[in-house]
Amino acid sequence: MKTIGTRMLISPAKYVQGAGAMHELGEHVARLGENVVVLADKGVWEFVDASVSESLAAAGVRLTKEVFGGLCTQREIDRVAAAAEETGADVIVGIGGGTAIDTAKAVGHALGDIAVVSAPTVASTDAPTSALAVIYTDEGAFERYSFFGRNPNLVLVDTALVARAPSRFIVSGMGDALATWYEARVCVAAHRTAMAGGLATEASLSLARLCWETLMEYGPQARLSAEAHVVTPALEKVTEANTLLSGLGFESCGLAAAHGIHNGLTVSHRTHGMMHGEKVNMGTLAQLVLEGAPTDELDTWLRFSRSVGLPTTLAEVGLADAGREELLAVGRAATAEGETTHNMPFTVSADMVADALTAGDAYARATATP
Ligand SMILES: [Zn+2]
Repeated sequence: MKTIGTRMLISPAKYVQGAGAMHELGEHVARLGENVVVLADKGVWEFVDASVSESLAAAGVRLTKEVFGGLCTQREIDRVAAAAEETGADVIVGIGGGTAIDTAKAVGHALGDIAVVSAPTVASTDAPTSALAVIYTDEGAFERYSFFGRNPNLVLVDTALVARAPSRFIVSGMGDALATWYEARVCVAAHRTAMAGGLATEASLSLARLCWETLMEYGPQARLSAEAHVVTPALEKVTEANTLLSGLGFESCGLAAAHGIHNGLTVSHRTHGMMHGEKVNMGTLAQLVLEGAPTDELDTWLRFSRSVGLPTTLAEVGLADAGREELLAVGRAATAEGETTHNMPFTVSADMVADALTAGDAYARATATP
């Protein structure tokens, strides 16, 4: 029987970050295996092929390239797992955004004993460090979280690639990372068991807090660096906040309403053009309203969101003129059984989610400077 009140922190075995880090992929992967399948979508292959192929070849690692279908669905996981099994791979590497990496992690889990490497080319989510994947339906709606027994063996982030990407990616990652502290503190106060399988440690809670502080201090600078496509200390710090601090923070502290409401928002087709962190940001706004957050806190959140260009209104996530029924559908999905919304210290209903989205949107619009 499990001891009540066990604290737990889980993390990847190794984290590597820096400009040009992709050129070191081979040397790190060679410590994990000798036969690797690398999964990346077509567009990503175009700019990583040279560095990946050369560095793996130099390290004596056999490479099989796989083109990612674009969505982390059960169908795609099965397809890539079959391909990897056929080559007898002992390492699977996912390169690109959160969904390619989630697929690689799920493939590693499906195949059992093979090493998993995640190499994000953007700092748009905290998926790369975690031991879970978000599985979508073929239509692109949230289906379920899939939990694995271990985190990736290696997370490698090339910040030259992060700076090369459109700035919307790192900004969206800030939305995902900004939620971490708000959700962590709720879970800790309510003594919730985190994804890691236990209560939060002081370490993970501190990392969640540091994530928030790093964003507040360096977020606006990092956005400008990303717009200019240059690597700066601010871009490095925010990349680490979006990827490592947020990843460890959410997984070992817990998610709450912000992510539950994000998942709710995915049921509306109108939000499908939005990135994960952009929708999460609306979830954070609604969570703060649900909590009855003081005006000061709401204003701090709003000021930051506006300073980096994160959405703060329903219209900005594709839900202009959303009717009550549409918001209630979001609320129902956000409060479905098993959703992290239920980590809030009080019962949350679909009506309450719809109300919080409406009220948060109204507050953001009323306080916007024309
Ligand atoms: Zn997230």
